[in-house]
Amino acid sequence: METKYIFVTGGVVSSLGKGIISSSLARLLLSRGYSVTIQKFDPYINIDPGTLNPYEHGECYVTIDGHEADLDLGHYERFTDIRTTRANNMTTGRIFQSVIDKERRGDYLGKTVQIIPHITDEIKHSILSLGSTGNYDFVITEIGGTVGDIESTPFLEAVRQLKWELGKNALSLHLTYVPYLKAAKELKTKPTQHSVKQLQSIGIQPDILVLRTEKDIPAGMRRKVAQFCNVAPDAVIQSIDASSIYRVPQMMHEQGLDDLVLRLTGTESKGTPDHTAWNEFLRKLESAQEEVTIGLVGKYVELQDAYKSINESLMQAATYCDRKLNLVYIHSEKLTDENADEMLSGMDGVIIAPGFGQRGIEGKFVALKWCREHDVPTFGICLGMQCMVIEYARNVLGYKDANSTEMDSETKHNVIDIMEEQKNISNMGGTMRLGAYNCRLKPGSIPAEAYGKEMVSERHRHRYEFNSDYREQFESSGLECVGENPDTGLVEVVQVPALKWFVGTQYHPEYQSTVLNPHPLFLSFIKAAIRNHKD
Ligand code: GLN
Repeated sequence: METKYIFVTGGVVSSLGKGIISSSLARLLLSRGYSVTIQKFDPYINIDPGTLNPYEHGECYVTIDGHEADLDLGHYERFTDIRTTRANNMTTGRIFQSVIDKERRGDYLGKTVQIIPHITDEIKHSILSLGSTGNYDFVITEIGGTVGDIESTPFLEAVRQLKWELGKNALSLHLTYVPYLKAAKELKTKPTQHSVKQLQSIGIQPDILVLRTEKDIPAGMRRKVAQFCNVAPDAVIQSIDASSIYRVPQMMHEQGLDDLVLRLTGTESKGTPDHTAWNEFLRKLESAQEEVTIGLVGKYVELQDAYKSINESLMQAATYCDRKLNLVYIHSEKLTDENADEMLSGMDGVIIAPGFGQRGIEGKFVALKWCREHDVPTFGICLGMQCMVIEYARNVLGYKDANSTEMDSETKHNVIDIMEEQKNISNMGGTMRLGAYNCRLKPGSIPAEAYGKEMVSERHRHRYEFNSDYREQFESSGLECVGENPDTGLVEVVQVPALKWFVGTQYHPEYQSTVLNPHPLFLSFIKAAIRNHKD
């Protein structure tokens, strides 16, 4: 079949969950047997979010091909099991960079380079190039930002042109907000009408409206919205606050969103969708009674989105173990030897979070020492693994000044050191060791047992590594290197076998855990935490 393009825009306010709606629609179309991919355009000028502080846009997600991406790509993968790449995430910065590079090469020789047509053509090219691979029946393109933002204008103009050129093969889905005014006890559709008017004034007629709401929108009110906005009555769908984002595909399906998309794009239905596995996950999620309590030690604990993929991986693993996840954020800047007992003793398991820089690092050492001495299941991820190694060097090997050269470039005991290939890099953007690399696991180790195999591929985002000069000393003192890169010998995984579950990974397993395929290491960690559960 010809590739169909679905453009997802948002209006009224930000944070309505365009990523969740796009992911849910992708999930529904996949369940019906179509091949689908999702792409996000971010209207900021950064080339990628890799240099952004998590306070700005939450976690930086990493694709297998080493692209530092918007966290929505994490939603896409978790909902769909699609493996995204750099082609699935574009920013204004990358679009402009590509056009400016072409201008310097002389590709536009003699011409004035302009937003229209050059920037818009570049945007259209990135949208269509996914479809032109012939791999997808549907390409869902999410336009970041809110309609009316100056930054989004070129993207919306490209959508307008494509809708015109592609005819029935393109659809516009607009997500808006219907606020409930407590004082008037009324839902208000005016902001939606205004937002649609704004989209129409750009030349885009939405085909489907999804209305985010906290309360049920009566059918009559939805009909009114349809009339005001030139859309079919059944194309006004509500997205009411859900107990879990993973309920949204079902909620969209019940209102016929997938049927509507097939009808509007003239796509033949392949029969009824199969939601069995998804529904089984939801059943487990909603029926779990007993809790498993996990402490997450990090410095961005005020911000839910900073550790998004870790939270989701823990929740997925807990769900498959029939437990409700009780995630306790522990601020690493506030953790000291004096309060460690109080802050950590209620935890069934502890995660030491990834990160960069000095801030909050001492609290991670405090947590690691406490967990090691109390034999609490502990999982160190990236910087968390590096801290595991440093704490062990300080308190078991006796090197009080042990450190990473990231924190102290002068340290004599640089048990974590800058990677050789990173030494001469001064640019900050996209220059870390990024993306998927193989790791060989030691037979019989916790990770090898968890994965059920010895060769795995996991994603990375780091500049520093375990200093192999210390490997023998660590191993003879009880901290084993149980995973390494088969080509370079870089230490990827450490474990203290004398403890119940004390594992650190240089890689980020959280980027590969999905609803239908929870990550084996997180499952193994949660099982250990459950065994450690104290009432
Ligand atoms: N700051 C560490 C490094 O660059 C760890 C990075 C991380 O946790 N993602 O190696």
